[in-house]
This record gives sequence, structure tokens and C-alpha cells, in this order.
Amino acid sequence: MLLKYKYKLKPHKSQGLIIANWLELARRQYNYRLAERLNWFEATRTPVNACPLNVSVVPIERIYQNIPEFRIQTRDGRKKDSNGHPITRKGDKHPNIIDGYVAWETVQLADLVQTKKLFPEYKSIHSQVLQDVIQRVQTTMDNFTQPDKNGKTSGRPKFKGKHYYNSFSYPQLSNTNIVKNANGRYCINLPKIDLVPLVFNRPIPVGFKVKTGTVIREADGWYISFTIEDKSVPVEVGEIQPTRKNSKGIDLGLLHYVVTSNGEFVEVPKFFRFSEHRLSKLQARLAKKPKHSKGWKILKGKIRSLHQLIARQRLDWQFKLAYHLFSNVSVIFVEDLQIASLVRRCKAKLGDNGQFLPNGQSAKSGLNKSLQDAAFGQFVQVLEYVAWKLGKRIIKVDPKGTSQYCWQCLNKVSKSLSERWHSCPKCGQELDRDYNSALLIQKIGLLSTRDEENHFC
Ligand SMILES: [Zn+2]
Repeated sequence: MLLKYKYKLKPHKSQGLIIANWLELARRQYNYRLAERLNWFEATRTPVNACPLNVSVVPIERIYQNIPEFRIQTRDGRKKDSNGHPITRKGDKHPNIIDGYVAWETVQLADLVQTKKLFPEYKSIHSQVLQDVIQRVQTTMDNFTQPDKNGKTSGRPKFKGKHYYNSFSYPQLSNTNIVKNANGRYCINLPKIDLVPLVFNRPIPVGFKVKTGTVIREADGWYISFTIEDKSVPVEVGEIQPTRKNSKGIDLGLLHYVVTSNGEFVEVPKFFRFSEHRLSKLQARLAKKPKHSKGWKILKGKIRSLHQLIARQRLDWQFKLAYHLFSNVSVIFVEDLQIASLVRRCKAKLGDNGQFLPNGQSAKSGLNKSLQDAAFGQFVQVLEYVAWKLGKRIIKVDPKGTSQYCWQCLNKVSKSLSERWHSCPKCGQELDRDYNSALLIQKIGLLSTRDEENHFC
């Protein structure tokens, strides 16, 4: 079981300066390393179906000129064979370019020595924090170039401006890093920064080990988020066998946030819409101020705080709702939603003369805003966490067709999004469409878990 615990940091003034300085250095390093990757990426490939005639042909020597062909190991490797001899030894030669592909992560990690020589300020950063920056570049490039299991890749990585790079990570922390200082105050011992006081409002659960720590900048100061792990705790409590009585299906939607299969309708919270008016007023005022002036900075801070407030209200509300939903059942069936594909722009429709025809995007923009406001993805995560905490179970169900079929006789009853009522001509069911979905989700869930049982027999 892997969890995230977040605490507020209360750094002294000098520590705050160090942290802010590190963040800025990490940001520059990130942008530089990303540029290296993108330059190489763009110089070495062009889309097969759209090869432009005036493509700049970069000579192969130029592409590889800054990448040494080999690197020589400076120390014995940590991994050892059965006789206790290191598998890789000092002086070993490793190729940097394999089949024309550059082993970027290792090349960039090795190049950090050069960075520290050229820019001595990088010597002040903890080496693992700096290495983590390169790992981040590797991850974004992987997401960009390698399709996931659905065959989708994320967009071209962006360079990070000052307000878009907000955290750095220590990849190796442990429980012993949380200590009390001379005054008996809880502190986190961050290597190369020293003891930073933190608000230790809840203890790390017994048995859990602190793995990594990420220092985060938010609107009201610094936070640290620990990933903590206990391998002995299973992620899912599988023993509870769902039955009609101890389970419920829930349907997530925008008209009602949650509809349960026992007929409960939970209203959509409109935190964002409530604060939207205030936000738009602040933004209008911001537009009139000269950029980076004193007043501009104050307003910017206010806007950031408002966003933070909305996010916190939402998360708090979701936790309360999750506990409420689990209060009378042990198993909840929920749709396995693909949020990313829900929040998307409509495809452009072109007319005969190449003009743009109405495609319903303006209506969908409002819907997208509501979808992001409702944050269903986050809510499912909260449900999973609460289920684990209570020793209960959450099961995801394929949402395909849950709004189109009758829950009782499984007859297909097609409806458009605007039809809110489900009336089945076959068995005469008359009920709210979302209520029908919730009942159907429960039914599918119960059937699928029963199948599982049969397979085991
Ligand atoms: Zn029916």
C-alpha cells in the first residue's frame, strides 16, 4: 500500500531562501535538459507522411557532436553476483549510443559533473535532487514518445515558466529524517538544508516507511509530501463478497453528483461556479495593472489563494461524501471512467467550402468546465483510499452502455443526453435515468464478481 501524506513546512527565513533558490535552479536545469532532448528528437525524425521538401538536413556528426560515444565507469557497481564480485567494475566502457538511439538518461546524469563545473551554484543542491530533475525529463519524454496501453501519447513537453515549476524531490528519505529539534519541535531533516520545522498534524501510520519527499510551493507557502509504503498491507481487501444487500452501485454525473442504487441523490457542489464571479472580477482588475508591479503581484497572490481554497473545499467535501456512502455498505461499484477522454474538444466540422460549421464546442466548453470542477477522477481516488481505510471494497465496472439499457430486463432503451427519464416499454420500469444507471452498475458488478468466483472453482 502506497500513500501520500502532506505536511506544511515552516522554514526559517534563510531556509526559505535556499529552498526557493533550489527550485529555480532545478527549473533551469529541467528546461536545459528538455531542450537537449527535443533538439535531438527534432533533428533525427520527421513524420513519414509529412516529410517537408525543405527539411533541414542536419549532418549526422552535428547531431551527435556533444554526446560522447562511450562513458567509463568511475566506481565498482553496487550490484554483485553470487560470489560477491561486482557485476560492473571500475574502468568498464559503456556505449552511450545504442543502435543510433542515445541513452539519454545516463548521458545527462553523467553530464551533471560538467554542469557543476560550469555553474558552481549547482554544487549547493543535493545531488539526488538534481538527478531527480533528469528523471522527470525522462518521464515526460517517455510519455511523449511511447504510447500507453490505449495507444495514446501525451503532447509535446513544455518548457516550464517561473510559476509552472513548483516542486523538487528527494528520492530517498526515511522515517529517521523526521526528528525533534532542541526545542522539541518536529522537523524534517532535509539533506543539505538542515532541520526544517514542519506542522506534524498526524503521525506516519505504524509499519509505514517514508520513501520519498517532495517539497512543493503552494499559494500559502511550502509543503512537503511524503510517499509512504507498507508492503505487508494489501492494496485491495478482496475477502468481502459483494451481495445485493451489502453493496451499492453509484452513478457519477453532472446533474446529480452521485446517484446510488438505493435511491439517494447527491447534489453537485458548485464551489467553482460560486467563486467564479469573484475570480473573474479579480482577473479583470489584474488585467489593468502593469505586469510585475506591486499591485499586480498582490492580485496574483489573491487569485492563487482563491484557486487553492476551491481545491481544498472540493477535496474536503469529497472525503465527507465518501465516508457517507460507505456508512451503510461494504462494497461500492463505480463506473471505470476515462476522464481524459470526457474532457476534450469536439472535432472540427468542415463545410463544402472549407468553412467551420457549428460542432457543439461552446456547449461542451461549459460541460468541460463542470467536469473539471466536479473532479470525478479525484473522487474515485478518494473512494479507493476511504475503502482501504475502512477495510471495505470498491470495484470498478465497465461503464459502457450503463445509461442505455434497462436495469431490470436489460432491454436497450436508447436516450439522448437531455432525456432524464427512463421508461422501459418491455417491463414497464419508470424511473430517473441516473437511478437506472446506478442500479445497472450494481447488477453488472454483482454478476461480474460472481463470474470470478466460478472461475476459481
Ligand atoms: Zn425493462
